[in-house]
Amino acid sequence: MRVGIVGAGLAGLSAAARLAATGHEVTVFEQGLRPGGKAGTESAAGYRFDTGPSLLTLPEVFDELFSFAGRKREDYLSFLPLEEICRYVFDDGTRLSAFHDQEAFGAELHRALGESPKALRQYFRSCARLNRIAGELFMRNSLHELSTYTKPSILLSVLQLWRLDLLRSMDQAHRAFFRDPRTTQLFNRYATYNGSSPYRVPATLNIIPAVEYLGGAYAVAGGIHALPCAIEQLCRELGVTFRYGTPVRRILSERAGGGRRVLGLETDSEEFRADVVISNLDVIGTYRDLLQDTEAPLYKRYQKLEPSSSGMVFLFGIGTAFPQLSHHNIFFSADYPAEFRSLFEELRCPEDPTVYVNVGCRSTPGDAPEGKENWFVLLNAPRDAGQDWMAERALMRAAVLKRLTSALGRDVEAHIEYESGFNPPDIEKKTGAAYGSLYGISSNTKLAAFLRHPNRSRRYKGLFFCGGSAHPGGGMPLAVLSGAITAGLVNGE
Ligand SMILES: Cc1cc2nc3c(=O)[nH]c(=O)nc-3n(C[C@H](O)[C@H](O)[C@H](O)COP(=O)(O)OP(=O)(O)OC[C@H]3O[C@@H](n4cnc5c(N)ncnc54)[C@H](O)[C@@H]3O)c2cc1C
Repeated sequence: MRVGIVGAGLAGLSAAARLAATGHEVTVFEQGLRPGGKAGTESAAGYRFDTGPSLLTLPEVFDELFSFAGRKREDYLSFLPLEEICRYVFDDGTRLSAFHDQEAFGAELHRALGESPKALRQYFRSCARLNRIAGELFMRNSLHELSTYTKPSILLSVLQLWRLDLLRSMDQAHRAFFRDPRTTQLFNRYATYNGSSPYRVPATLNIIPAVEYLGGAYAVAGGIHALPCAIEQLCRELGVTFRYGTPVRRILSERAGGGRRVLGLETDSEEFRADVVISNLDVIGTYRDLLQDTEAPLYKRYQKLEPSSSGMVFLFGIGTAFPQLSHHNIFFSADYPAEFRSLFEELRCPEDPTVYVNVGCRSTPGDAPEGKENWFVLLNAPRDAGQDWMAERALMRAAVLKRLTSALGRDVEAHIEYESGFNPPDIEKKTGAAYGSLYGISSNTKLAAFLRHPNRSRRYKGLFFCGGSAHPGGGMPLAVLSGAITAGLVNGE
């Protein structure tokens, strides 16, 4: 079949590789000049930065993509396991390291916060159970196809859905497991991995720490952007054609029987006929801009669902070394509940934000000049609702510098020799993410996982959706799985 894919994000690339490997003629149309979408890159003044994701989990998902095409991922790129996953600094100055090794992490939590190692073991056991019950069902299958529910492994999961800890919030579960509020704050942070609030997401989302601590966290040699580049190379070897700098303006369709059927897509310079069109663009933009179908029931429903949070990013080229920083570092705010009230209720940047600093050159030394560091600084930000982003950014920059200078004991601003970055509206402009949301809709309700857009359109025959705003959701591995599920549906699996 002839397949047209809109967008060379990770999900679009994943679908392209799998469909080309199964004999289809695949063309990817990308408005930007490179693959990767949110997993982008920027270079200036001797520094290179990843501009989106910085932490990789579920490496097996990427390995499976390459082995599906008869290749080995190791021949294309290296994953570097992190023994120290993240270094934390709390508002009161307490510091601790979260290690992959559970015994070491338990000892560290005990040393810094007086937490019992047994509590950590019990917590991870419960997270692992959630992952066993729900991981395969939600992450690797369409939830909207009858055939999913006839698989024995899935039936077993469905029968156990009542054990998914849906009735408590993530925060309530953490308070039940741990005695110190700082431990709760540390694990509550995982709600932000899909742009949600720990005070509202069901505790089911504790699958996320299971994935990170039990499966491990990784850096990518050459930086995260090397990942979409490697998948793009695989795609090219499989015969996929890429059209960069080519925004798709419309998905073409016609009435057929009682419904509609896609005919292909239109760019500024051509009409591309295709049997199948896959949109890796945000669900909202696909209906509103490419289909011009704002009457579609799923579009109307998506308009009512709460978007996930966005991010404000500062890229700092730091003209000196800060050896006290690890690869991933979190500097927590004093009042976490207030931070999430700002993000989701007041739609303002928090007065006192938690600051994430990723020092990319820890794993890819060439990304900063000798003796200097490339910092990717990320703050949770509300979705774009027309805020005055210049004003918000000025406040956030001051808050970031104040917190980092106090925690690191040196004037950070004095060492910034290069600076750029972006706000939520820039994320929408660059990647099409509605409201600049990083992960599509939020998971702030119990049923959110079931409300994500299906990978196959029922309204348009031949139209499919993949990517962070569709099932199973955002984050690099989920985007790649979204492409895999979509390719499976196209192939009639
Ligand atoms: C700041 C930030 C930090 C993040 N941190 C992490 C992290 O640490 N770990 C993690 O796993 N995930 C993280 N994520 C999330 C992760 O990056 C995304 O979930 C994932 O990359 C989304 O992939 P996608 O396939 O949905 O496509 P996207 O990356 O959204 O790509 C969509 C593509 O479609 C293209 N496009 C849009 N409209 C058109 C059009 N009309 N015609 C042609 N092309 C079009 C865009 O240019 C883009 O390339 C982060 C994201 C951001 C922004």
